Amino acid sequence: MSTLTNPKLESIYLEVVNRNPGEAEFHQAVREVLESLGPVLAKYPEFGQRKIIERICEPERQVIFRVPWQDDKGEVRINRAFRVQFNSALGPYKGGLRFHPSVYLGIIKFLGFEQIFKNALTGMPIGGGKGGSDFDPKGKSDDEIMRFCQSFMTELWRYLGEYIDVPAGDIGVGGREIGYLFGQYKRITTRYESGVLTGKGLGYGGSLVRREATGYGLVYFMDEMLKGRRQTIEGKTCVVSGSGNVAIYTIEKVQQLGGKVVACSDSNGYVHDEAGIDVELVKQLKEVERRRIKDYLKTRKDARYVEGGNIWEIPCQVALPCATQNELTGKDAAMLVKHGCIAVGEGANMPSTPEAVKVFLDHNVGFGPAKAANAGGVATSALEMQQNASRDSWTFDFTDHRLEDIMRNIYRTVEQTAEEYGTPGNYVNGANIAGFIRVAQAMVAMGLI
Ligand code: NDP
Repeated sequence: MSTLTNPKLESIYLEVVNRNPGEAEFHQAVREVLESLGPVLAKYPEFGQRKIIERICEPERQVIFRVPWQDDKGEVRINRAFRVQFNSALGPYKGGLRFHPSVYLGIIKFLGFEQIFKNALTGMPIGGGKGGSDFDPKGKSDDEIMRFCQSFMTELWRYLGEYIDVPAGDIGVGGREIGYLFGQYKRITTRYESGVLTGKGLGYGGSLVRREATGYGLVYFMDEMLKGRRQTIEGKTCVVSGSGNVAIYTIEKVQQLGGKVVACSDSNGYVHDEAGIDVELVKQLKEVERRRIKDYLKTRKDARYVEGGNIWEIPCQVALPCATQNELTGKDAAMLVKHGCIAVGEGANMPSTPEAVKVFLDHNVGFGPAKAANAGGVATSALEMQQNASRDSWTFDFTDHRLEDIMRNIYRTVEQTAEEYGTPGNYVNGANIAGFIRVAQAMVAMGLI
């Protein structure tokens, strides 16, 4: 890997690697932000003097805890869980919880670090944090999920609060898990504190549009970006990886705007449906029956399923990775470009490797980085917090319009910032710089804390 061009930033990066050994994803996320910050340090010398970057790279607080629970056979199981409260310069820590066997401290730190800048870009008063566990929800019964969530919250509750830290969902954590977590928080604290978690059910303090928000927001962002390039989503062939929360509502919104999604996936393989993915069927399989994407073929006989296949082999004009980190490599990016891909929007967090990002930028592919393009979920979580604080609930259309405004504004901010810092069209720089400056200015204003 080449060194960062700015020696000061290179030495900060090396120190981060040294102090956080073995946390490859965290190193990758830090490096990607630092690569954008040279001109910012030159323009704002106080950020260097106050050691803002070094402070931002060190979480304010990290909690690691044991989660013991009993499975349906009465067997005792033990998982490890994390909450990293990364930065609260702009508001209470805010960021999801991930339940997946791959979770370890380095994944949670990369996600928490990204979250700081993403949350800043929304313009809402929220800091950055992230949490989760190496618990694997796949194949677990409802009761097992509930017992795990209750045990998880029995430790975590003491670090949460509507003015302290407000988790939401992420991979493996959806409405069902948030319900169990909220129930246990309420029971332990004897407080009906709606604003302590977001992504709640509509019957007990949730917000309309939160479920759809990350996917819809991604497509609003892409639509604005394509407009800037005199294009629209309408009529475009799209590929969406994943088939979870973000993927499903990305597919739905692309279809509403006249685009055609021809493929989606899960961790076992992908389905290719030339006639266009039947999103209601995917919802039924994934949200209701919790089955594998392979079962799509039982209903849609003309579709094709490729076990273990690489979804980026399918030609498309717009690629929307919505599964997980580093799922789209440099080789995949080159293949997408060769097949005529003109735009990529990251629904997942850090789905493109650094090599892939370089290929996209070098070939003038419109590239919407995760911190900007998938901020719709957390932005709508902040809208849920607003509704909770005012004991109000808004209509679907009102909330959706607010989400759309936020996403189109984020695009304009990153576009203008990229231009202002001499890299027009490079929204990676635009997002990193705009998010960083907002946090850094608040940190300078608050003194050495
Ligand atoms: P879900 O758990 O609902 O869905 C995840 C999807 O990605 C599933 O289809 C899953 O397949 C697939 N997937 C997960 N891990 C892997 C893997 N290692 N390899 C291949 N496929 C994988 O999660 P979400 O949709 O909520 O999250 C998806 C991405 O979006 C994550 O990167 C998350 O951080 C990001 N994100 C989510 C937000 C939200 O509001 N939910 C907000 C912003 C970003 P399988 O079922 O086989 O595991």
